[in-house]
Amino acid sequence: MKNNGNAQFVSPAQMEKQKEYTQLVKAVLTAKYTEPPKAFVHTYGCQGNVADSERMIGQLLEMGYVLTGTPEDAQLVLFNTCAVREHAEDRVFGNVGALKPIKEIHRDMIIALCGCMMQQQQVADRIKRSYPYVNLVFGTFAIHRLPELMYRTLVGKKRVFDTDASQSPVAEGLPVYRESDFKAWLPIMYGCNNFCSYCVVPYVRGRERSRRSEDILNEAREIIASGVKEITLLGQNVNSYGKNSGDGVDFAELLKKINALDGDFKIRFMTSHPKDCNERLLDTMAECEKCARHLHLPFQSGNNRVLREMNRGYTREHYLELIAYAKKVMPDISLTSDVIVGFPGETYEEFLDTVSLIKEVEFTSLFTFIFSPRTGTRAASMDDPVPAKEKSKWFSELIKAQEEVAAKRCASSVGKVFRVLVENETDKHDGTLTGRTDGNVTIDFPGDTSIIGSYADVKVTNARNWTLSGEINK
Ligand code: SAM
Ligand code: SF4
Repeated sequence: MKNNGNAQFVSPAQMEKQKEYTQLVKAVLTAKYTEPPKAFVHTYGCQGNVADSERMIGQLLEMGYVLTGTPEDAQLVLFNTCAVREHAEDRVFGNVGALKPIKEIHRDMIIALCGCMMQQQQVADRIKRSYPYVNLVFGTFAIHRLPELMYRTLVGKKRVFDTDASQSPVAEGLPVYRESDFKAWLPIMYGCNNFCSYCVVPYVRGRERSRRSEDILNEAREIIASGVKEITLLGQNVNSYGKNSGDGVDFAELLKKINALDGDFKIRFMTSHPKDCNERLLDTMAECEKCARHLHLPFQSGNNRVLREMNRGYTREHYLELIAYAKKVMPDISLTSDVIVGFPGETYEEFLDTVSLIKEVEFTSLFTFIFSPRTGTRAASMDDPVPAKEKSKWFSELIKAQEEVAAKRCASSVGKVFRVLVENETDKHDGTLTGRTDGNVTIDFPGDTSIIGSYADVKVTNARNWTLSGEINK
């Protein structure tokens, strides 16, 4: 692998080798099946995982697989897993268990598990021990080697386990299968250096490494040329983009460069970290007319002692200063965030600081989580005296506070006109479409399905707690 700063780029020779494996797999599949074999791919967790799956599906299609929506008729089942909370892991184990009777009927079905969960030794060991019908297990660093892993699984007699973490590569040039024609995920960096004391991500995704800005821009150009109307830049901490890439472009400059590309499209990004968010970045957002007026800035806790114990690297005051500046330079900014309730040792009074911060900032919406201990993290070994039942009560109190804030914000939108990216018809199929405003609020309105994938000006006529209704503004 060629090293560029701290980022390791997979060499062209290695990528070429994977293309050869792709052809070998294709030959094996052609000899084995009379019709193209089917792959069922299920993704758990964050958009980073979704983007990884799009690259794995791209590779599978080149190997000769076609996609199916059900595991029962699949020759390959691939689960891309999430390790951020215990609940997510339990779901994966449950769903892998549910594959056993299907595999008993379809004996030559390949079951493959990958992603963050598999990058944890104790999980890979448990799969090896207790799930003998799983054929292939690989971690987050092996995505670009999927053709080779599939070949070994198809022709070898043994189960294949590859969770090597000695190299954390950036692979360019992988084929991408994008689920949507008008929205695209665009990873700009991988990994995380922050080691928040509760979080497993740095352990399963490795250190931060940024893609070269030119590679990102080329992918953005392709995406825009294909008709995409919304690009979401992805990274665990996009604000530190470029710190390790060595080509001198930081996140604010990258935003400007993408903003300067021709085309009618919006730019979103996630996730921003308050520690690395600054006035320069917020000024850049304000200057870039293609940047959506939406900032997802997780604060996790409103209490300084808890923030210190979380190793977040900022204070409540600093967070509020950033928010005040964002509102000053973008008065119409929509703010969203992530919050953890019941961090080990958090008291009720400290939790109330989180509630007061929510009321002060007036977020559009929140992702709210109850603390979940993750093996190997510092927080998992901290004293955690508050019972689960009590944490649930705090959690409900927090949801209620946010509901009031969001309902007030939504009500203030009535009568306004928003430019909306039309995304879907609702499940009722009654001529109601849904889309999202620039601020990332869902809005439904009557309209013809022919406008899905384009922008429409929609006037808000009604507001609920989290969502809006409206009509196309003629
Ligand atoms: N990198 C992003 C950041 O720092 O804001 C977040 C990435 S993490 C995958 C998404 C969210 O999951 C976090 O913001 C946090 O609120 C939540 N989370 C992470 N670890 C958790 C844990 N052990 N228990 C509960 N929630 C957790
Ligand atoms: Fe996890 Fe913190 Fe990194 Fe986000 S910044 S991925 S919460 S360690």
